Amino acid sequence: MFSNAVKLCSIKGFDIKVDPSWLVIASLVTWSLSQHYFPKILPDTTKATHLSMALVAMLGLFSCLLLHELAHSVVARHLGVPIKSITLFIFGGMAELGAEPSSARDEFWIALAGPAMSIALAFGFWILAQSVWLSSTAAPIAEVFSYLAIINLVLALFNLVPAFPLDGGRVLRAYLWHRNGNVLAATKTAARFGEIFAYLIMALGVVALFGGAIALGLWHLMIGGFMLVAARASSSAQMARAVFSGKSVRAIMTPDPVTVNPDTTLSHFVNLAMLRHNVSFVPVVEDGVLLGHMDASVLCGIDREHWGNTRVGDVFVGLEQSPMVTPDLAVSELLEMILTTGRRKFMVMQDHQLRGVVTLADLTRHLNPEKMRCRRPETVDPTHSD
Ligand SMILES: [Zn+2]
Repeated sequence: MFSNAVKLCSIKGFDIKVDPSWLVIASLVTWSLSQHYFPKILPDTTKATHLSMALVAMLGLFSCLLLHELAHSVVARHLGVPIKSITLFIFGGMAELGAEPSSARDEFWIALAGPAMSIALAFGFWILAQSVWLSSTAAPIAEVFSYLAIINLVLALFNLVPAFPLDGGRVLRAYLWHRNGNVLAATKTAARFGEIFAYLIMALGVVALFGGAIALGLWHLMIGGFMLVAARASSSAQMARAVFSGKSVRAIMTPDPVTVNPDTTLSHFVNLAMLRHNVSFVPVVEDGVLLGHMDASVLCGIDREHWGNTRVGDVFVGLEQSPMVTPDLAVSELLEMILTTGRRKFMVMQDHQLRGVVTLADLTRHLNPEKMRCRRPETVDPTHSD
């Protein structure tokens, strides 16, 4: 998700990254604290002090966000869910889970760990602020502590709103999952709450805009928009993970796919394989030996008038350039390959034998089982004609 994020360090084996967009929020926070918040609270203090206070508070906020995400990550690892990395970005922090929690109970504790950490931090900073106020006159230090107490409380409360993918939304999902035993339905409901909340924030933004608070309004619109996209994207990703978890390519591939003999002419190939079976990716096989594949992009490079006298064998893509996977590959890894390589169709090979074909369409069909169609295996041979 964050391709430009820079790795800062590793804490307890977790990679800590910062996305360049974090600098936007860091400067905004420093600016608004040094120009508005601290001057209002401590009007008799110098501008330099306000700026130092703002910088310390911003770094404090950075550390608190990190601790919030670390809390999610430590609990996740404890429960056997791997964490890819922790990234800070414009809207806060994100711990990327390497897999789905296997039970509602695990999901519940992982989700709750972050806000629990923020509440603990809020309480800790409140105690610190009180003790500094009592013991000395170092008002700037006490005010920074008090700001961090407030911001951590706000972070905890905002994240506890039951709107997926916020932590509260995950808690809600865990609760519904636990109650009904249906992780997909639970994800759908929690994501719907997420969308409603996102629209609510955007509506507040519009109201602020009409009230003349341009910056505040735009900020709400941005956060709302981000949450809307995130709710939709994470819910589909979660659905995909839930449907495909533990499944391998074998479970979703088309076994015994339509194949084509290299002696077939292109016009026969188009009519008998592509149009008739509605496929665009066809393995080329001769006497049981796989030679490569044909797809629509190969045809695009050849004039239609030559289709009648060009054979598949003259133009097909050889094995060395054909995308291949094994039937034992996890579907999640196939999804990763599709996302990273941009290829959408693969031949499934085992022991030098063609076992099937798997495509992005097979993945989508499993997400919408009602759209599953029956497919008959068939070989397109030049001797066929109809
Ligand atoms: Zn969180």
